[in-house]
Amino acid sequence: MFRAVSRLSGRAAGLTGQPCCRPAVSKLHMASGASCQKSAIVHASTDIPEMPRCSFKPQEYKGMSKERMMEIRGQNCNPMIMKVTYYKKPVFIHQGYMQWLWDVDGRRYLDLFAGVATVSVGHCHPKITAVAEQQLKRLWHTTNIYVYPPLHEYCEKLASYLPDPLKVIYLTNSGSEANDLAMIMARLHTGNFDIITLRGSYHGGSQQTMGLTSNAAYKYPIASGLGCTHTMCPDVFRGLWGGSHCRDSPVQTIRECSCAQGHCMANEQYIGQLKETFATSVPSRIAAFFGEPIQGVGGAVQYPKNYLKEAYKLVRERGGVCIADEVQTGFGRTGSHFWGFQGHDVIPDIVTMAKGIGNGFPMGAVVTTPEIAASIAKGVHFNTFGGNPLACTIASSVLDTITEDGLQQNSLDVGTYMMTELAKLRDKYEIIGDVRGKGLQIGVEMVKDKTSRDLLAPEAMSEIFEDIKDMGVLIGKGGIYGQTFRIKPPLCITKEDADFFLAVFDKSIHNYMKRR
Ligand code: PMP
Repeated sequence: MFRAVSRLSGRAAGLTGQPCCRPAVSKLHMASGASCQKSAIVHASTDIPEMPRCSFKPQEYKGMSKERMMEIRGQNCNPMIMKVTYYKKPVFIHQGYMQWLWDVDGRRYLDLFAGVATVSVGHCHPKITAVAEQQLKRLWHTTNIYVYPPLHEYCEKLASYLPDPLKVIYLTNSGSEANDLAMIMARLHTGNFDIITLRGSYHGGSQQTMGLTSNAAYKYPIASGLGCTHTMCPDVFRGLWGGSHCRDSPVQTIRECSCAQGHCMANEQYIGQLKETFATSVPSRIAAFFGEPIQGVGGAVQYPKNYLKEAYKLVRERGGVCIADEVQTGFGRTGSHFWGFQGHDVIPDIVTMAKGIGNGFPMGAVVTTPEIAASIAKGVHFNTFGGNPLACTIASSVLDTITEDGLQQNSLDVGTYMMTELAKLRDKYEIIGDVRGKGLQIGVEMVKDKTSRDLLAPEAMSEIFEDIKDMGVLIGKGGIYGQTFRIKPPLCITKEDADFFLAVFDKSIHNYMKRR
């Protein structure tokens, strides 16, 4: 798995787009036109894991210099993005193809973060690009006061992916907008005001959704999200309670418990906390409970198996509706099901979605029941771009592609393999505290040591993160304290890609331990 290369040359290190002579190897690759193989080239000097080859040749970059981009970033861009380049040495991205990205110097990266869990089926997927091109030539925009085929074709198709009675669709442009709308619907429908979310969640950055979000980094000292209350997150690794078979994941926590099969003490305790929130922090009647099936920005946090089912029951007893935020977990990412909520055996009253819905094209949606939808029809809720013909055409092709390329199954297969192998690294290294997730929604939580479960220091996280990037893999970071590595790639990655990442991750931890 390791190829020895000279540190002096990124290109010599096989990190650029190399032509490949072997034909496509799977249905997935035939559909995408991508073809990859392991390079047999071995150079002497230092060990850097070998990147699978890729046949795609990016265009040569002839644009603005990196220095000029950074100057403009400092002067004319949202100042936040100047602070957050994510890496000490930023990545300047030029082009993408399926699971691959190329920087302006032609260096190739395996993209395991997908523009924050957004590029669901692959960068510039050829089939979707072709469909989008046709629609661009036909009609870019008209709005939903007119009747045009892409909107209706898409709404019918998306509705067919959801169980009854979730059949009415509102289209938006982002996840925050979808969650804003879901909040309005829940309040109008129930006549109640208070909404409960889980600590550590992220539901958006608009003034209302900032109230749902429970992570200080994303909050401002302004009047936001009146009526939002956060209850304890049932985090079975870092939380107060957790054991050895709490969650629906191929990998369980390192914590032990004496629960009999089918019984979960941690779940009872966390549900107890929710009951206490009902008793102390909200009126007797509430509007909604918002929950991600697996926390995304929170660091792929999974709850005990029956938590959502029991929480939904308690919420409904208090007049509230249950809202599943599927912005990260939807569209097959969790592998076992198309929607994350299905893994919890619940049917929400409202489902919100975005990110993967358009494979990176800005889009969001709220799906609900006819009764709940009717409450908002009492006034005019208009959205200029929501349901735009280009967006609907692309989103429709994304749904077809997930099926045709077998991506949900691929997510299950590659994701399960990746987590099982990551668990071996957890057992090897004291600083890997937890491996969790479902399908290709994976979190790796880092600790000082397994006994204390104290957080690995941010500087250490950054060092490892930077090293992984320098070896050619992009992953994400999350968790309230930035303590969790997040792996949420396009669903088209292969087992070979997983092996490459596993070797890189192993090496980066090994390097860090050696430097200590
Ligand atoms: N919900 C979840 C679970 C998210 O992860 C995000 C974005 N990270 C949002 C909502 C907000 O989506 P957007 O950035 O498109 O507004």
